[in-house]
Amino acid sequence: MIMPRLFGTNGVRGRVNEEMTSELALQLGKATGTVFGRGLYVVGMDTRVSNQMLKTAFISGVLSVGGDVIDAGIVPSPTLQYSVRYLGARAGAMITASHNPPQFNGIKIIQGDGTEAERCIEEKIEDIIHRDAYTVASWDAIGKTQVMDIQKRYRDAVCSLVNESRIREKTFRVIMDCGNGAGCRVMPYLLRDLGCRVVSMNCHPDGMFPGRLPEPTCDSLSDLMGMVCASKADMGVALDGDADRAVFVDENGGYIDGDKTLALMASHLVSSGTTCVTPVSSSSCVSDVVTKKGGEMVFTRVGAPLVARKMIEVSAVFGGEENGGLIFPRHQYCRDGGMAMAAVLDIMAGTGEPLSHLVGELPSYSLFKGKVSCPPDKKEKILRDLVKDEDHEVNLTDGVKILLPEGWVLVRPSGTESLIRVYAEAKDPGTAEKIGERYRLMVQRMIG
Ligand code: MG
Repeated sequence: MIMPRLFGTNGVRGRVNEEMTSELALQLGKATGTVFGRGLYVVGMDTRVSNQMLKTAFISGVLSVGGDVIDAGIVPSPTLQYSVRYLGARAGAMITASHNPPQFNGIKIIQGDGTEAERCIEEKIEDIIHRDAYTVASWDAIGKTQVMDIQKRYRDAVCSLVNESRIREKTFRVIMDCGNGAGCRVMPYLLRDLGCRVVSMNCHPDGMFPGRLPEPTCDSLSDLMGMVCASKADMGVALDGDADRAVFVDENGGYIDGDKTLALMASHLVSSGTTCVTPVSSSSCVSDVVTKKGGEMVFTRVGAPLVARKMIEVSAVFGGEENGGLIFPRHQYCRDGGMAMAAVLDIMAGTGEPLSHLVGELPSYSLFKGKVSCPPDKKEKILRDLVKDEDHEVNLTDGVKILLPEGWVLVRPSGTESLIRVYAEAKDPGTAEKIGERYRLMVQRMIG
């Protein structure tokens, strides 16, 4: 019998009461407690309506195998991850489906060092569930729970890593859009700690997500962009559902692509001889900046936990994804929306430049995004054939990335859908579309 895989790229996810059930949450709690053993666990959640159901089931599972649990309530993922480490917990769990729509939920397992669980840990958890092999505690060794507010230490830690007094002097006016997600309870207060005059929008926790969907995109942030403009703010910031990703709006109400935020941060954190890590799908504006600084660029497969693992391996000074997920090793090896906000304010205070100027100085590229329907069993062969016929240099870190004189093309099978995605980047939109379409049609012909 083949063991079904439960974990995807970011924990266990699914539709509530379909794939993501209270039974599964209970099994995950029991299995996590079995794998990591007796000791302390920290459990947090975002604002989804199904959270209480899944959190209590998960906690019940941990208690049944003898683990003690701190219930941190609604907290951002990075706050939870930070507290797992500083409290010296065995492990932790975050009940969240991050940027997914409200009908989804999930559980992310956090290791004792605050990082998202490695694949080998996930396999152990899956195996224990599959074999029903929990180390159930005797009646007098069942765990206990306590409720704890873990956010102050997190906020203090973030503030200690930036020039707090320099930021405070500027009294930046910031519009904060938490998207009714996990950021509500922590992030506006973090900005207040940094002396900002904060105007909050969508900052009441609400799992129906009435303000906007939990994914912060250019299309979903029109209210924020309008508000920044109308109120003459210095900056707008929007978080995803669990506040590990931060997306920024400049003082003119202009949306800043995540690639640009990555490049901006890299230009201030990377120096000669240091390393920056990002997935192969990130824009060349990041590598341009890193190369100019004399730093080294390391590319990984797509997925934040993989970026974080690689950063530990190569002692990187900075890394992240193009979707606003930024990782600051001085703080912790996970995406951190709070640290990202503080770091952007630190750069603004240090340079005295408005955000639009800082971003305007970065190299600019255009991205083409295309896709082709493809049966799952054909995906591997298409990629192999593509490499065989290719004259240009290829990078096989994730899918096939073809390095052309005028830009690059990334042909990558979707992990969840019957699709092959084709991304292309070049200096101008016309060229990006031309090379992207060329490869998209090529892939389409190969599928037949
Ligand atoms: Mg997230």
